[in-house]
This record gives sequence, C-alpha cells and structure tokens, in this order.
Amino acid sequence: MDRSVNNMSVALFGGTFNPIHNGHLRIAVELAEQLDVESLRMIPCALPPHREALTVSAEQRLQMLKAAIENQPRLVADEIELQRQGPSYTIDTLRQVRAEITSDTPLYLCLGMDVLATIDSWHQWQQLTDYCHLVISARPDHNMPQQGALAEWVSQRRCDDLQQLKSSSAGKLYFCETSMLAISSTQIRDKVSRGDAIDYLTPAAVVNYIQQNYLYE
Ligand code: ATP
Repeated sequence: MDRSVNNMSVALFGGTFNPIHNGHLRIAVELAEQLDVESLRMIPCALPPHREALTVSAEQRLQMLKAAIENQPRLVADEIELQRQGPSYTIDTLRQVRAEITSDTPLYLCLGMDVLATIDSWHQWQQLTDYCHLVISARPDHNMPQQGALAEWVSQRRCDDLQQLKSSSAGKLYFCETSMLAISSTQIRDKVSRGDAIDYLTPAAVVNYIQQNYLYE
C-alpha cells in the first residue's frame, strides 16, 4: 500500500477477517461513501489480543481480503499490523497512521456496535479518540453501552452531526446507519466445516481460496 502523505481524510476498518465476507464489504463501501474518503483501509489484525490462536494465518486472511476487494478501487488492504511483532493493539496502529498524516487531517476508525461494547478491554482504550474519531455501525442484537465508565466515555464524545465530525481531526464518536447483512465469519467457518455452501456470503474469489487451501474444514 502507498503510505505517501496527502491531506485526504483517512478511514480505517480493522477486523480479524477470518474470512472477509459480504457484511464487511457492504459496510466498507457505505462507510467510504458516507465519510467521503478517497480510500478506506481494511486492516487485518495479525495477532488478535482477545482471541484464541487462529488456525488460519494472518497472511491467508490478507490474501482473502485482497482477493475480495480486487475490483473495488476505494477499498485498500493495509498490512500495517502484519508488519509489527507482538499483539496487534489498535492504539499502536492509530499512532503510526497519525504520524503519517497531518495533525488536522480527519482520521476515522470504523467499528461495529458489537466491538464498541467491549472496547473498554482494549489496551489504552481511553486514548483512542486522541488520534481519531470512532464511527460505529449498528449490528443486530447489540445495543449502545448503557452504564458504567464506557457509557460515560461514549456520551462525552458523541456527535450526531456528520459535518461537524468531518470538520475536525479526532475526538468524537459518531453512530451511523449502514446495512446490516446477517452474515458473520463464524457462520461461514461453521458452514464450511459442515460441508455446506458459502456462495454469495463472500465473493467467489474468497470461496475459491477457501476451497483451494482447505480452510475451515
Ligand atoms: P467472527 O464471527 O469471527 O466474530 P465477524 O464476522 O464479527 O467475525 P470481524 O472480522 O470480527 O468479523 O469483524 C470486523 C468488523 O466488522 C467489526 O467491527 C464488526 O462489527 C464488523 N462486522 C462484522 N460482520 C458484520 C456485518 N454482517 N455487518 C456489519 N458489520 C460487520
């Protein structure tokens, strides 16, 4: 990926992407449009701090991501977390990206509501908004945090005005309306292990990669 600096706002969308699926891809396209970014960087997590070791390597998850977005110029696969050693902490990624862009460039970190609900377990979570805005997409069965330190942190930063968000570089939390396709990576892994078809849950290139490499069997 070209890491050269320009003054266009930057959106990041991280995930395990094990594997990437149409739910990820649909919201990535919608987020890039709503946030009006030139590109949305999709970042596979190399070593997820909160998950058991994965049977599929970071390199394979990256290959599936690249195959999935081949014809989508607005979506970019960013290997930033694969190039670091140790657990993939988002705060480190944000610091690295912020150092590459000007301090007044808007930087957005896009997450699903399921992720927001547990963000208070992340390394240095309270400092995330020092570097970026958080853009949260609704997901079925996941509500806003209602009480405690996380709920307070959210309400202090909440911004419902997209123009206001775009006119500052970091510090706010925005809840956006995006499609919620009822697809998850877990569902895809389970289907493959049962021998069920996964066509149309993820692009054909990803289906082929999974079959050719005997993943999730
Ligand atoms: P798993 O089933 O393995 O937990 P997942 O499908 O939730 O995986 P992740 O790679 O963990 O996918 O998610 C990356 C990001 O994509 C998260 O912010 C998550 O909220 C979001 N996301 C995942 N699936 C969808 C979907 N169907 N619609 C909208 N957002 C999604």
